[in-house]
Amino acid sequence: MDIRFVERKDLKEKPDWNKLGFGKYFTDYMFEMDWDREHEWHDARIVPYGPIQFDPACVVLHYAQETFEGLKAYRREDGKIQLFRPEMNAKRMQNSNERLCMPKVPVDIFVDAIKALVEKEKDWVPTLPNTSLYIRPFVFATEAALGVHMATNYRFLVILSPVGMYYAEGLNPVKIMIEDELVRAVQGGTGFTKCGGNYAGSIAGQVKAEKEGYDQVLWLDGATRTYVEEVGSMNIMFKIDGEIYTAPINEGTVLPGVTRDSMIHILKDWGYKVNEAHLKAEDLMRYGHEGKLEEVFGTGTAAVISPVGKLKFKDDVITINDMKTGELTQKLYDTLTGIQWGRLPDKYGWTVEVC
Ligand SMILES: *Cc1c(COP(=O)(O)O)cnc(C)c1O
Repeated sequence: MDIRFVERKDLKEKPDWNKLGFGKYFTDYMFEMDWDREHEWHDARIVPYGPIQFDPACVVLHYAQETFEGLKAYRREDGKIQLFRPEMNAKRMQNSNERLCMPKVPVDIFVDAIKALVEKEKDWVPTLPNTSLYIRPFVFATEAALGVHMATNYRFLVILSPVGMYYAEGLNPVKIMIEDELVRAVQGGTGFTKCGGNYAGSIAGQVKAEKEGYDQVLWLDGATRTYVEEVGSMNIMFKIDGEIYTAPINEGTVLPGVTRDSMIHILKDWGYKVNEAHLKAEDLMRYGHEGKLEEVFGTGTAAVISPVGKLKFKDDVITINDMKTGELTQKLYDTLTGIQWGRLPDKYGWTVEVC
């Protein structure tokens, strides 16, 4: 792919790698590409990071025709930079775009765009342990026209943000509230896609949870509000009586996480039985009271793994593993981050070197 380059005059000052937080700083350049019916995907370019212009009638602003992805570039100890399973993100975005009637970005264009931009911005991949360069590809409708319809013009962008550990406190268990009223996804809906609208609809649940002193929401299935599905931007796994349980992804209501898939691979490799099965919230609470719920953790690119120390459902509250990070949770974190940052051999062939 030919990529046009537009240079900027003065580069930004790099932030303090110790105080990165998440998604606060953006690099000097971004990747852009356009789509229309005649030319399909064309005019790939790396341009100075900055505001983009919209017509006020732009389709995405009214009907939320937008999908996005999230992955990271990691700096290894030898200084080299690598990605983690980027083609999985590419394919997932294709599934999202298909559901939203948006043109698919070919897998090679998606991966090559990211590689080219990350290489250009390699000095922005932070060097401290547990820091990385977060990559946010997204596609949206740019056509200016009111009325719900399949748009005629789209843009694909990639922006980059150096990030520290997702939770400032490190691997500290979070408190999660099971939402029994609002829902995130239903069969036939868009739950399996990373589309902006899903997240707009989830904020009310998040606000509710925070008001009660909880960090995040665990959503139940939209049809019956009985079975646990996933957290706001993480899948969730439970260790019950030595076996692992997580919600199935084949019904289209749960986001198929790259981290989820990787954890399942590793867990099976270690001899764990992994049940991709429905689990009732009330049973989960009962297992908690009976002492069978050994560990609970969320999985996602941003936080990698997030131990859960407390769960609330209606008026019932359970504490998991005395609010401490579980042994398996820690081992999974060490293993996956070991592969991602190149401290452990990549026996699954998941990493892709950039430069
Ligand atoms: C992004 C996301 C995940 C995690 O996916 P990863 O590929 O592991 O980062 C899980 N659930 C939701 C709702 C998400 O948006």
